[in-house]
Amino acid sequence: MKKTFYSLFLGLASITALSASAQSLSSQLSKVALERARPQGRPCATMDVLEAQLAATPRQALRMAEIEAQTGRYVASPTARRTAAVITIPVVMHVLYNTSAQNVPDAQIQAQIDVLNKDFAKTNTDAALIPAAFAGAAANTNIQFVLARRDPSGRATTGIIRKSTRVKSWSANDAMKTSKRAGSDPWDTSKYLNIWVCNLGQGLLGYAQFPGGAASTDGVVVLYSSLPGGTAAPYNKGRTGTHEVGHWLNLRHIWGDASCGNDLVSDTPTQQTSNYGCPSFPKVTCSNGPNGDMFMNYMDYTDDACMYMFSNGQSARMNALFASGGARAALATSNGGTAPLVSTTAVETLTVFPNPTAGQLSIRTGLNTPAIKWQTKVYDLRGFEMKQVRPAGDGTVDVSALPAGMYHLVLTDGTATQHQSFRKE
Ligand SMILES: [Zn+2]
Repeated sequence: MKKTFYSLFLGLASITALSASAQSLSSQLSKVALERARPQGRPCATMDVLEAQLAATPRQALRMAEIEAQTGRYVASPTARRTAAVITIPVVMHVLYNTSAQNVPDAQIQAQIDVLNKDFAKTNTDAALIPAAFAGAAANTNIQFVLARRDPSGRATTGIIRKSTRVKSWSANDAMKTSKRAGSDPWDTSKYLNIWVCNLGQGLLGYAQFPGGAASTDGVVVLYSSLPGGTAAPYNKGRTGTHEVGHWLNLRHIWGDASCGNDLVSDTPTQQTSNYGCPSFPKVTCSNGPNGDMFMNYMDYTDDACMYMFSNGQSARMNALFASGGARAALATSNGGTAPLVSTTAVETLTVFPNPTAGQLSIRTGLNTPAIKWQTKVYDLRGFEMKQVRPAGDGTVDVSALPAGMYHLVLTDGTATQHQSFRKE
Protein backbone atom coordinates (compact mmCIF):
# COMPACT_ATOMS: atom_id res chain seq x y z
CA MET A 1 0.00 0.00 0.00
CA LYS A 2 1.52 3.29 -1.10
CA LYS A 3 -0.35 5.64 1.19
CA THR A 4 1.43 6.19 4.49
CA PHE A 5 -0.39 5.79 7.75
CA TYR A 6 0.28 9.43 8.59
CA SER A 7 -1.33 10.83 5.45
CA LEU A 8 -4.15 8.35 5.75
CA PHE A 9 -4.99 9.61 9.21
CA LEU A 10 -4.55 13.28 8.52
CA GLY A 11 -6.88 12.78 5.59
CA LEU A 12 -9.42 11.03 7.76
CA ALA A 13 -9.13 13.77 10.36
CA SER A 14 -9.83 16.58 7.93
CA ILE A 15 -12.78 14.80 6.37
CA THR A 16 -14.32 13.84 9.66
CA ALA A 17 -13.70 17.22 11.29
CA LEU A 18 -16.17 18.75 8.84
CA SER A 19 -18.97 16.35 9.54
CA ALA A 20 -18.62 15.09 13.05
CA SER A 21 -19.13 18.03 15.32
CA ALA A 22 -22.54 17.38 16.81
CA GLN A 23 -22.87 13.65 16.52
CA SER A 24 -22.42 11.63 19.65
CA LEU A 25 -20.09 8.68 19.81
CA SER A 26 -22.91 6.19 20.14
CA SER A 27 -24.88 7.46 17.16
CA GLN A 28 -21.69 7.45 15.13
CA LEU A 29 -21.09 3.91 16.28
CA SER A 30 -24.43 2.53 15.24
CA LYS A 31 -24.12 4.33 11.89
CA VAL A 32 -20.65 2.91 11.27
CA ALA A 33 -21.77 -0.55 12.35
CA LEU A 34 -24.63 -0.45 9.85
CA GLU A 35 -22.50 0.84 7.01
CA ARG A 36 -19.58 -1.50 7.47
CA ALA A 37 -19.86 -4.95 5.97
CA ARG A 38 -18.11 -7.10 8.52
CA PRO A 39 -15.58 -9.59 7.12
CA GLN A 40 -16.22 -13.24 7.76
CA GLY A 41 -14.74 -14.86 10.85
CA ARG A 42 -14.00 -13.54 14.31
CA PRO A 43 -16.45 -10.68 15.08
CA CYS A 44 -14.19 -7.91 16.43
CA ALA A 45 -15.51 -4.35 16.68
CA THR A 46 -12.16 -2.61 17.22
CA MET A 47 -12.02 -0.88 13.83
CA ASP A 48 -15.69 0.19 14.06
CA VAL A 49 -14.95 1.77 17.41
CA LEU A 50 -11.83 3.48 16.06
CA GLU A 51 -13.76 4.97 13.14
CA ALA A 52 -16.43 6.26 15.48
CA GLN A 53 -13.86 7.77 17.84
CA LEU A 54 -12.00 9.47 15.00
CA ALA A 55 -15.26 10.90 13.73
CA ALA A 56 -16.27 12.19 17.16
CA THR A 57 -12.79 13.36 18.20
CA PRO A 58 -10.72 14.49 15.21
CA ARG A 59 -7.77 15.38 17.47
CA GLN A 60 -7.32 11.68 18.17
CA ALA A 61 -5.98 11.20 14.64
CA LEU A 62 -3.17 13.64 15.41
CA ARG A 63 -2.34 11.84 18.64
CA MET A 64 -2.28 8.52 16.80
CA ALA A 65 -0.05 9.98 14.11
CA GLU A 66 2.40 11.10 16.81
CA ILE A 67 2.38 7.58 18.28
CA GLU A 68 2.92 6.19 14.79
CA ALA A 69 5.93 8.48 14.29
CA GLN A 70 7.47 7.39 17.62
CA THR A 71 6.77 3.75 16.71
CA GLY A 72 8.49 4.21 13.36
CA ARG A 73 11.60 5.69 15.03
CA TYR A 74 11.69 2.84 17.55
CA VAL A 75 11.23 0.08 14.98
CA ALA A 76 14.01 1.59 12.85
CA SER A 77 16.40 1.85 15.82
CA PRO A 78 18.80 -0.87 17.00
CA THR A 79 16.92 -0.85 20.33
CA ALA A 80 14.05 -2.67 18.70
CA ARG A 81 16.26 -5.62 17.86
CA ARG A 82 17.86 -5.78 21.29
CA THR A 83 16.51 -8.32 23.75
CA ALA A 84 14.43 -6.09 25.97
CA ALA A 85 13.64 -6.67 29.62
CA VAL A 86 10.31 -8.37 30.21
CA ILE A 87 7.52 -5.89 30.78
CA THR A 88 4.82 -7.12 33.12
CA ILE A 89 1.50 -5.34 32.79
CA PRO A 90 -0.88 -5.27 35.78
CA VAL A 91 -4.39 -6.27 34.73
CA VAL A 92 -7.71 -5.53 36.38
CA MET A 93 -10.65 -7.64 35.24
CA HIS A 94 -14.11 -6.12 35.54
CA VAL A 95 -16.62 -8.98 35.52
CA LEU A 96 -20.11 -7.62 34.80
CA TYR A 97 -22.84 -10.20 35.18
CA ASN A 98 -26.58 -10.39 34.75
CA THR A 99 -26.73 -14.17 35.09
CA SER A 100 -24.62 -16.54 37.17
CA ALA A 101 -23.07 -17.99 33.99
CA GLN A 102 -21.70 -14.53 33.16
CA ASN A 103 -20.06 -14.35 36.60
CA VAL A 104 -17.07 -16.37 35.39
CA PRO A 105 -15.05 -18.03 38.16
CA ASP A 106 -11.60 -16.88 39.25
CA ALA A 107 -10.04 -20.00 37.70
CA GLN A 108 -11.23 -19.00 34.22
CA ILE A 109 -9.93 -15.47 34.66
CA GLN A 110 -6.53 -16.80 35.71
CA ALA A 111 -6.66 -19.17 32.71
CA GLN A 112 -7.14 -16.13 30.45
CA ILE A 113 -4.08 -14.48 31.98
CA ASP A 114 -2.15 -17.73 31.46
CA VAL A 115 -3.17 -17.84 27.77
CA LEU A 116 -2.03 -14.23 27.32
CA ASN A 117 1.31 -15.01 28.95
CA LYS A 118 1.93 -18.08 26.83
CA ASP A 119 0.84 -16.44 23.58
CA PHE A 120 2.92 -13.31 24.16
CA ALA A 121 5.98 -15.38 25.19
CA LYS A 122 5.65 -17.93 22.36
CA THR A 123 5.39 -20.68 24.97
CA ASN A 124 1.93 -21.71 23.68
CA THR A 125 2.08 -25.42 22.84
CA ASP A 126 0.47 -24.89 19.44
CA ALA A 127 3.42 -22.70 18.39
CA ALA A 128 4.77 -26.07 17.21
CA LEU A 129 2.20 -25.86 14.39
CA ILE A 130 3.73 -22.70 12.87
CA PRO A 131 4.74 -23.54 9.28
CA ALA A 132 8.52 -23.69 8.81
CA ALA A 133 8.29 -20.76 6.37
CA PHE A 134 7.07 -18.50 9.20
CA ALA A 135 8.88 -20.05 12.17
CA GLY A 136 11.73 -17.54 11.98
CA ALA A 137 9.30 -14.65 12.11
CA ALA A 138 7.48 -15.89 15.23
CA ALA A 139 8.14 -13.71 18.29
CA ASN A 140 8.48 -13.89 22.01
CA THR A 141 7.27 -10.36 22.67
CA ASN A 142 8.71 -10.11 26.20
CA ILE A 143 5.36 -8.72 27.31
CA GLN A 144 3.65 -10.45 30.23
CA PHE A 145 0.53 -9.93 32.32
CA VAL A 146 -0.37 -10.33 35.97
CA LEU A 147 -3.62 -9.81 37.83
CA ALA A 148 -3.21 -6.61 39.85
CA ARG A 149 -2.08 -7.10 43.44
CA ARG A 150 -2.30 -3.45 44.43
CA ASP A 151 -5.23 -1.17 43.64
CA PRO A 152 -4.85 2.51 42.69
CA SER A 153 -5.09 3.57 46.35
CA GLY A 154 -2.33 1.16 47.39
CA ARG A 155 -4.53 -1.52 48.93
CA ALA A 156 -4.12 -5.24 48.35
CA THR A 157 -6.41 -6.64 45.63
CA THR A 158 -7.13 -9.79 43.66
CA GLY A 159 -7.28 -7.76 40.45
CA ILE A 160 -10.84 -8.99 39.89
CA ILE A 161 -13.88 -6.74 40.29
CA ARG A 162 -17.28 -8.42 40.21
CA LYS A 163 -20.40 -6.40 39.67
CA SER A 164 -23.97 -7.51 39.25
CA THR A 165 -25.69 -5.42 36.57
CA ARG A 166 -29.20 -4.94 35.24
CA VAL A 167 -27.78 -4.81 31.71
CA LYS A 168 -28.51 -8.07 29.89
CA SER A 169 -26.40 -7.38 26.81
CA TRP A 170 -23.74 -4.77 25.96
CA SER A 171 -22.69 -3.18 22.70
CA ALA A 172 -19.42 -1.61 21.54
CA ASN A 173 -20.41 1.84 22.88
CA ASP A 174 -18.22 1.72 26.03
CA ALA A 175 -21.20 1.74 28.43
CA MET A 176 -19.60 -1.11 30.39
CA LYS A 177 -16.72 1.23 31.23
CA THR A 178 -18.72 3.57 33.45
CA SER A 179 -20.74 2.98 36.60
CA LYS A 180 -23.10 5.74 35.41
CA ARG A 181 -24.35 3.28 32.79
CA ALA A 182 -24.36 0.24 35.09
CA GLY A 183 -20.82 -0.70 34.13
CA SER A 184 -17.59 -0.56 36.11
CA ASP A 185 -15.23 2.43 36.15
CA PRO A 186 -11.68 1.80 34.95
CA TRP A 187 -8.67 1.92 37.22
CA ASP A 188 -5.98 4.42 36.18
CA THR A 189 -5.55 3.40 32.56
CA SER A 190 -1.95 4.60 32.48
CA LYS A 191 -1.07 2.08 35.21
CA TYR A 192 -3.37 -0.89 34.50
CA LEU A 193 -4.72 -2.83 31.56
CA ASN A 194 -8.48 -2.79 32.19
CA ILE A 195 -10.36 -5.77 30.76
CA TRP A 196 -14.15 -5.85 30.91
CA VAL A 197 -15.60 -9.36 30.80
CA CYS A 198 -19.29 -9.16 29.96
CA ASN A 199 -22.13 -10.32 27.75
CA LEU A 200 -21.43 -8.48 24.49
CA GLY A 201 -24.41 -8.61 22.15
CA GLN A 202 -24.71 -8.33 18.36
CA GLY A 203 -22.59 -11.46 17.98
CA LEU A 204 -19.46 -9.58 19.07
CA LEU A 205 -16.51 -11.40 20.61
CA GLY A 206 -14.64 -8.31 21.73
CA TYR A 207 -13.10 -4.96 20.98
CA ALA A 208 -10.18 -2.85 22.12
CA GLN A 209 -9.14 0.77 22.12
CA PHE A 210 -5.89 1.65 20.34
CA PRO A 211 -3.24 3.77 22.08
CA GLY A 212 -4.09 7.44 21.60
CA GLY A 213 -7.77 7.20 22.52
CA ALA A 214 -9.46 8.72 25.58
CA ALA A 215 -8.05 7.57 28.92
CA SER A 216 -11.56 7.10 30.32
CA THR A 217 -12.37 4.32 27.84
CA ASP A 218 -8.93 2.76 27.42
CA GLY A 219 -8.82 -1.03 27.63
CA VAL A 220 -10.23 -4.24 26.23
CA VAL A 221 -13.71 -5.79 26.26
CA VAL A 222 -14.25 -9.51 25.77
CA LEU A 223 -17.32 -11.71 25.62
CA TYR A 224 -17.48 -13.67 28.90
CA SER A 225 -17.86 -17.01 27.08
CA SER A 226 -14.69 -16.42 25.02
CA LEU A 227 -12.52 -17.09 28.06
CA PRO A 228 -10.68 -20.45 28.07
CA GLY A 229 -13.24 -23.20 28.64
CA GLY A 230 -16.16 -20.93 27.77
CA THR A 231 -19.06 -21.78 25.49
CA ALA A 232 -18.27 -19.53 22.48
CA ALA A 233 -16.69 -22.32 20.39
CA PRO A 234 -14.70 -22.09 18.15
CA TYR A 235 -13.65 -18.92 19.97
CA ASN A 236 -13.31 -20.28 23.49
CA LYS A 237 -9.60 -20.79 24.04
CA GLY A 238 -8.85 -17.25 25.18
CA ARG A 239 -7.53 -16.01 21.83
CA THR A 240 -10.11 -13.24 21.74
CA GLY A 241 -8.19 -11.86 24.68
CA THR A 242 -4.88 -12.26 22.83
CA HIS A 243 -6.26 -10.63 19.65
CA GLU A 244 -7.84 -7.69 21.48
CA VAL A 245 -4.81 -7.06 23.69
CA GLY A 246 -2.84 -7.05 20.43
CA HIS A 247 -5.04 -4.16 19.24
CA TRP A 248 -4.64 -2.42 22.61
CA LEU A 249 -0.89 -2.65 21.99
CA ASN A 250 -1.34 -0.94 18.62
CA LEU A 251 -1.55 -3.94 16.28
CA ARG A 252 -3.79 -3.73 13.21
CA HIS A 253 -5.65 -6.60 11.62
CA ILE A 254 -3.15 -8.49 9.55
CA TRP A 255 -4.96 -7.76 6.25
CA GLY A 256 -4.83 -4.01 7.01
CA ASP A 257 -8.64 -3.69 6.95
CA ALA A 258 -8.57 -3.14 3.20
CA SER A 259 -8.15 -5.28 0.11
CA CYS A 260 -4.44 -6.24 0.12
CA GLY A 261 -4.12 -3.56 2.82
CA ASN A 262 -1.29 -2.43 5.08
CA ASP A 263 -1.04 -3.54 8.71
CA LEU A 264 1.97 -1.23 9.33
CA VAL A 265 4.22 -4.24 9.99
CA SER A 266 6.95 -5.22 7.54
CA ASP A 267 7.27 -8.97 8.18
CA THR A 268 3.61 -9.95 7.84
CA PRO A 269 2.76 -10.76 4.19
CA THR A 270 0.21 -8.54 2.45
CA GLN A 271 -3.03 -10.52 2.22
CA GLN A 272 -6.37 -10.06 0.48
CA THR A 273 -8.70 -9.98 3.48
CA SER A 274 -9.46 -11.75 6.74
CA ASN A 275 -9.24 -15.50 6.94
CA TYR A 276 -11.72 -17.54 8.92
CA GLY A 277 -12.10 -21.08 10.18
CA CYS A 278 -8.89 -23.04 9.85
CA PRO A 279 -7.23 -22.58 6.41
CA SER A 280 -4.65 -24.94 4.89
CA PHE A 281 -1.09 -23.71 4.34
CA PRO A 282 -0.18 -22.12 2.00
CA LYS A 283 -3.03 -19.79 1.06
CA VAL A 284 -1.72 -17.42 -1.59
CA THR A 285 -3.46 -14.05 -2.17
CA CYS A 286 -2.24 -10.62 -3.34
CA SER A 287 0.73 -12.30 -5.09
CA ASN A 288 2.16 -13.20 -1.67
CA GLY A 289 3.44 -16.64 -2.74
CA PRO A 290 4.98 -19.04 -2.10
CA ASN A 291 4.24 -18.74 1.63
CA GLY A 292 0.98 -16.85 1.30
CA ASP A 293 -1.13 -15.39 4.12
CA MET A 294 0.09 -15.60 7.72
CA PHE A 295 -3.40 -16.77 8.66
CA MET A 296 -2.13 -18.36 11.89
CA ASN A 297 -1.35 -14.88 13.23
CA TYR A 298 -3.35 -13.72 16.26
CA MET A 299 -4.39 -10.61 14.31
CA ASP A 300 -6.27 -12.59 11.65
CA TYR A 301 -9.88 -13.76 12.11
CA THR A 302 -9.26 -17.52 12.24
CA ASP A 303 -10.56 -19.89 14.94
CA ASP A 304 -8.89 -19.87 18.35
CA ALA A 305 -7.37 -23.28 17.63
CA CYS A 306 -5.86 -22.05 14.36
CA MET A 307 -4.02 -18.87 15.44
CA TYR A 308 -0.74 -19.21 17.31
CA MET A 309 1.82 -16.50 16.58
CA PHE A 310 2.80 -12.84 16.65
CA SER A 311 5.57 -11.77 14.27
CA ASN A 312 8.84 -10.05 15.20
CA GLY A 313 7.59 -6.91 13.46
CA GLN A 314 4.41 -6.95 15.51
CA SER A 315 6.48 -7.47 18.66
CA ALA A 316 8.67 -4.45 17.87
CA ARG A 317 5.57 -2.37 17.21
CA MET A 318 4.10 -3.33 20.60
CA ASN A 319 7.37 -2.78 22.46
CA ALA A 320 7.68 0.72 21.00
CA LEU A 321 4.83 1.72 23.32
CA PHE A 322 7.00 1.02 26.37
CA ALA A 323 10.12 2.80 25.16
CA SER A 324 11.00 6.33 26.25
CA GLY A 325 8.26 8.60 24.92
CA GLY A 326 6.03 5.61 24.15
CA ALA A 327 2.28 5.88 24.61
CA ARG A 328 2.13 3.17 27.27
CA ALA A 329 5.53 3.75 28.91
CA ALA A 330 3.93 4.42 32.32
CA LEU A 331 2.76 0.80 32.45
CA ALA A 332 6.35 -0.40 32.50
CA THR A 333 6.88 1.23 35.90
CA SER A 334 3.42 0.64 37.38
CA ASN A 335 3.54 -1.00 40.81
CA GLY A 336 0.00 -2.39 40.37
CA GLY A 337 1.37 -5.91 39.87
CA THR A 338 3.24 -6.07 43.17
CA ALA A 339 1.50 -6.59 46.49
CA PRO A 340 1.66 -3.78 49.03
CA LEU A 341 4.03 -4.48 51.92
CA VAL A 342 1.15 -4.33 54.34
CA SER A 343 -2.49 -5.04 53.94
CA THR A 344 -4.27 -1.79 54.66
CA THR A 345 -7.50 -3.37 55.82
CA ALA A 346 -8.29 -1.52 59.02
CA VAL A 347 -8.51 -3.67 62.11
CA GLU A 348 -11.19 -2.27 64.33
CA THR A 349 -9.77 -3.72 67.50
CA LEU A 350 -6.53 -1.80 67.19
CA THR A 351 -6.85 1.82 68.20
CA VAL A 352 -4.30 4.59 68.01
CA PHE A 353 -4.79 7.96 69.63
CA PRO A 354 -4.77 10.86 69.41
CA ASN A 355 -5.45 10.63 65.67
CA PRO A 356 -4.38 12.88 64.05
CA THR A 357 -1.29 13.49 66.13
CA ALA A 358 1.65 15.88 66.04
CA GLY A 359 4.05 13.84 68.21
CA GLN A 360 3.10 10.90 70.42
CA LEU A 361 0.82 8.07 69.34
CA SER A 362 -0.65 5.76 71.99
CA ILE A 363 -1.54 2.22 70.96
CA ARG A 364 -4.26 -0.02 72.37
CA THR A 365 -4.54 -3.50 70.89
CA GLY A 366 -7.77 -5.46 70.87
CA LEU A 367 -6.05 -8.47 72.40
CA ASN A 368 -5.05 -8.92 76.00
CA THR A 369 -1.44 -8.38 75.14
CA PRO A 370 0.21 -5.12 76.05
CA ALA A 371 1.38 -3.14 73.04
CA ILE A 372 4.82 -3.27 74.55
CA LYS A 373 5.20 -6.90 73.40
CA TRP A 374 4.46 -6.15 69.76
CA GLN A 375 6.99 -5.18 67.14
CA THR A 376 5.89 -1.78 65.91
CA LYS A 377 6.54 -0.40 62.43
CA VAL A 378 5.16 2.53 60.47
CA TYR A 379 4.80 2.62 56.67
CA ASP A 380 3.86 5.37 54.30
CA LEU A 381 1.08 4.85 51.72
CA ARG A 382 3.58 3.54 49.17
CA GLY A 383 4.61 0.79 51.58
CA PHE A 384 7.99 2.23 52.56
CA GLU A 385 9.00 1.74 56.18
CA MET A 386 9.48 4.97 58.12
CA LYS A 387 12.72 4.26 60.01
CA GLN A 388 12.72 7.57 61.85
CA VAL A 389 9.82 6.37 64.02
CA ARG A 390 10.88 5.28 67.52
CA PRO A 391 8.59 3.03 69.60
CA ALA A 392 9.09 4.07 73.21
CA GLY A 393 8.47 0.56 74.53
CA ASP A 394 5.60 1.61 76.77
CA GLY A 395 2.74 1.44 74.24
CA THR A 396 3.54 4.81 72.71
CA VAL A 397 5.32 5.73 69.52
CA ASP A 398 7.10 8.99 68.80
CA VAL A 399 6.12 10.03 65.26
CA SER A 400 7.20 13.65 65.58
CA ALA A 401 9.96 13.14 62.97
CA LEU A 402 7.46 12.14 60.24
CA PRO A 403 6.40 14.59 57.54
CA ALA A 404 2.70 15.46 57.69
CA GLY A 405 0.48 12.88 55.94
CA MET A 406 -1.23 9.50 56.20
CA TYR A 407 0.63 6.43 57.53
CA HIS A 408 -0.01 2.85 58.52
CA LEU A 409 0.98 1.52 61.92
CA VAL A 410 1.65 -2.23 61.90
CA LEU A 411 1.98 -4.40 65.01
CA THR A 412 3.34 -7.93 64.80
CA ASP A 413 3.96 -10.48 67.55
CA GLY A 414 5.32 -13.16 65.23
CA THR A 415 1.97 -14.82 64.54
CA ALA A 416 -0.68 -12.10 64.38
CA THR A 417 -0.54 -8.75 62.63
CA GLN A 418 -2.71 -5.76 63.36
CA HIS A 419 -2.69 -2.46 61.58
CA GLN A 420 -4.32 0.92 61.69
CA SER A 421 -3.87 4.11 59.76
CA PHE A 422 -3.24 7.51 61.29
CA ARG A 423 -2.56 11.04 60.22
CA LYS A 424 0.54 13.00 61.23
CA GLU A 425 -0.13 16.73 61.42
ZN1 LIG B 1 -9.73 -7.25 15.76
